[in-house]
Amino acid sequence: MFTTLLLSALLVTAGPAKPDLKTPFEKGNGNQTATYAEAIDWYQKFDAAYDEVKMVPYGMTDAGRPLHLVIVSTDKDFDPASIHRKNKRILLIQNGIHPGEPEGIDATMMLARDYLQNKKLRKQLDNVVLIIIPVYNIGGALNRNSHTRTNQNGPESYGFRGNARNLDLNRDYIKTDSRNAQTFHDIFREWNPDVFMDNHTSNGADYQHVMTLIPTQHNKMNPTLATYTTGKMLPALYEGMKQDKYPMVPYMNTKDETPDNGIIGFMESPRYDTGYTTLYNTIGFVPETHMLKPFNQRVDATYKLMENMIETIHRDADEIGEARAKANQQTLVQQQFPLGWKLDTTQVKQIPFLGYEAKYKPSEVSGAERLYYDRKSPYSKMIDYYDEFVPTVTVQKPVAYIVPQAWHEVIDRLKQDKVELKQLTKDTTIALDSYYITDYKTVPRAYEGHYLHSDVQLRTEHMPRHFFKGDYVVYLNQPTNRFVVEVLEPQATDSYFNWNFFDSILMQKEYYSSYVFEDLAAEILKQNPALRKQLEEKKKADAGFAKDPRAQLDFVYRHSPHYEPTHMLYPVARLMQDMELPL
Ligand SMILES: [Zn+2]
Repeated sequence: MFTTLLLSALLVTAGPAKPDLKTPFEKGNGNQTATYAEAIDWYQKFDAAYDEVKMVPYGMTDAGRPLHLVIVSTDKDFDPASIHRKNKRILLIQNGIHPGEPEGIDATMMLARDYLQNKKLRKQLDNVVLIIIPVYNIGGALNRNSHTRTNQNGPESYGFRGNARNLDLNRDYIKTDSRNAQTFHDIFREWNPDVFMDNHTSNGADYQHVMTLIPTQHNKMNPTLATYTTGKMLPALYEGMKQDKYPMVPYMNTKDETPDNGIIGFMESPRYDTGYTTLYNTIGFVPETHMLKPFNQRVDATYKLMENMIETIHRDADEIGEARAKANQQTLVQQQFPLGWKLDTTQVKQIPFLGYEAKYKPSEVSGAERLYYDRKSPYSKMIDYYDEFVPTVTVQKPVAYIVPQAWHEVIDRLKQDKVELKQLTKDTTIALDSYYITDYKTVPRAYEGHYLHSDVQLRTEHMPRHFFKGDYVVYLNQPTNRFVVEVLEPQATDSYFNWNFFDSILMQKEYYSSYVFEDLAAEILKQNPALRKQLEEKKKADAGFAKDPRAQLDFVYRHSPHYEPTHMLYPVARLMQDMELPL
């Protein structure tokens, strides 16, 4: 009796508690962004306030704190497989990969809340589930300062670009050196989002636009998805942003110093997030707000773009679902895979651009002529836009790759992406296509913790290879086909070879003592007149070689059985015709 009375009294006086879901940005002066702790704290309250929201600590990051995923699902279904079965679209929003560019962190909190509280907006979530990474680069967000975004107009303080290991996480999607990236792969492969959005702030030229956009480069997308994205989705986003008073332009990747001479579409190889997500036919966007606009305007423009994004996904939900299903089917049977791209400078179109006149005046630092943009001279004109790329190298997919288990960092990464791997059940010798690396370039200084290779040249040999029980066979009949080709073909821009995963094959392990090998070399040449002839011809053709006794001795060595056959042999082999393997 007493208890009941007390309870009803409490209910009358307190009423249902209405949580304060104003965000730190809204409570501040408009030029302040939430700290990492504030953001997580806010999402915890948001999670507690709504059954339609669930925040999950998904996995570790380099900063020793978990990466959270916030799921907003109006029918309270938080199971990705079940959501896909219901034919709902999933939008993944990622913020704070560069925590100095934090608009998305603040805009997404307000957006997620408004979509639950506003009836009209909420209706759009009938067929769209939002999944949100509140702050991706946690280590960078904790390293807060007010200066490292040198040319940016606010907020008052913000995080740093490098993560806890000083990695730029937007170069880490293939090599996955960071735990952040490992956790991202888990999220991405488990949720398989239809659309991905990663919010940023630009550097570079000055102009009137607040919002610029990098969509996944269309030549690199599956053609069905490219047709939908360029034909329908992008026009809807551009029109919506125009209506919202934030006319957009493509990201200002200028051809010359200023935008006047045209801009170039951004070609993102898979080390970048949208370059990676497109390998799985996820439509990817990187919005870049303009650094010189006030922070509150940039937050608002980011909010509006996400709003237009959700509205478009809601409207085109079935079409996006069908386009992705078709794209995934096409990926399964695709035979030729491009591995590198170059700009086609012969194809150019015109786009409207709201700029400021670029002018020059003497520098007060050096006295030399320096560029400035005159805000008193705004203009509206058409500028050139180059956005057609052509493949530079294309490869025929094999039936399967065989990856020796010794390369376990590679195997770990294939497993992380849920690539289906089979293992040989006994030691086996198989004749199959193998690559020798004949040439490559390497950057002279470390780039993102690696000495990145490029311009790889190959020689293919069909030869017997010995594999051990437990070595891995990767069949190219999977949804992961494109990912597998891009990481295992050495000539692909962001191959594991280029990221140094196979560098130990580039070093010769055994040599010879010249004075002893002289006699053996003489014997070899005696036994092999063809090699002798080759040597003489090379001497005639190459004056340097003719004068270099060591080089000539080495030539004989490299053509003798003493030279190790594994030097420069790429360990991953290509099975070009299906055959029975002990699996
Ligand atoms: Zn950025």
